[in-house]
Amino acid sequence: MKEIVLAKYGEIVLKGLNKRSFEDMLTKNIKRRLKSLGRFELFFAQSTTYITPLDDDIELSEVVDRVGKIFGIAALCRACVCEKDFSDITEKSIDYLKDVLSSVETFKVNAKRADKAFPMKSPEICAELGGILLEKFPNLKVDVKNPQITVTVEIRDTNAYIHAENIKGAGGLPVGSSGKAMLLLSGGIDSPVAGYMMAKRGVNITAIHYVSPPYTSDRALLKVEQLCEKLTDYCGGIAFYCVPFTEIQEAIKDNCPEEYFTIIMRRLMMEIAQRIAEKDNCLALITGESVGQVASQTMAAISCTDAVCRIPVFRPLIGMDKTEIIEIARKIDTFETSVLPYEDCCTVFTPRHPKVRPSLEDVEKAQGKFDFEPLIQKAVENTEMKTFSYTK
Ligand code: ATP
Ligand code: MG
Repeated sequence: MKEIVLAKYGEIVLKGLNKRSFEDMLTKNIKRRLKSLGRFELFFAQSTTYITPLDDDIELSEVVDRVGKIFGIAALCRACVCEKDFSDITEKSIDYLKDVLSSVETFKVNAKRADKAFPMKSPEICAELGGILLEKFPNLKVDVKNPQITVTVEIRDTNAYIHAENIKGAGGLPVGSSGKAMLLLSGGIDSPVAGYMMAKRGVNITAIHYVSPPYTSDRALLKVEQLCEKLTDYCGGIAFYCVPFTEIQEAIKDNCPEEYFTIIMRRLMMEIAQRIAEKDNCLALITGESVGQVASQTMAAISCTDAVCRIPVFRPLIGMDKTEIIEIARKIDTFETSVLPYEDCCTVFTPRHPKVRPSLEDVEKAQGKFDFEPLIQKAVENTEMKTFSYTK
């Protein structure tokens, strides 16, 4: 039996005149994601992408797994390909759906007849096929309002398709359709989730990470690179910038009042990020901050950080509880890596009593005690970039 995968659009269906460009982006993303599995034919109709494997050895469950993580797709399912002939449709329905139809009690048949030349009309297909399935599977009853299973028959140009499953897709908009932004990626739980959430809105993610050797180790960096790699399942390829931050942190420690260490560090992180963002055509910054989570994430502290930002800063976790963030981190499989106990540059030289409600004036005065500009420029110049792509 020949099987294909149907992927149904999410929010793209609401797009007007520029719907086509979203579709093109989605197609590109699907093709790129499936390339390593073999050859496929992609075809669109009625807000659905029909993904037909052209090589025999392609594992369809792997296709479903990968396509299920592509943003822009609301739902997907495997479907069986039939001749446009009612007896073939009947035979294949019985055979293809026998396991699921034996295990439920209620069902209905739903027919979609795109090819109006097909001799039976939709209600006729539903009634005939429904009757045959009832006979074949005595455990079944018809429930048109709330069936456990809906057997869908689609009659299209060249073939008919049968399917009965409905797998939830990743939702959102195709990555790339909203432009590019720079994610401040730490090794923690929050920032990978923030990247995932913005990618879901169609944002192409570029990552930036600050390291402070010898205070932070190679293993800490490796952990962040692993997180980046995990994000590629959802975000596609990611350019990863690694900023040497030791000198800046030491300069803060040696020249600024201790209670402002963290807030000054965050302002300098933002300054460096936006300079690199500009060079790489990123239109915004993304962080994993959430109001009140730590001293540097009070509203007053966030205002002091934002005061140096010339481009928008997106904080998709801003109103979320840690438990909600963790739930997503587990779903996208970053949690286990995030909780590995390696130090981050944020935990180097942390003040014993950070200012919880800093005023911008005081922060600027504290930061003004040292001219950071040469060190900022040096850090930007010495930043290294590498790219991460799908691991399989
Ligand atoms: P996370 O759980 O993501 O590590 P956090 O709870 O540790 O965040 P902070 O240390 O205050 O919170 O960091 C807030 C945000 O700043 C992070 O979500 C991330 O976007 C960014 N950030 C922190 N440390 C780094 C780093 N070393 N490199 C890049 N970005 C960082
Ligand atoms: Mg956090």
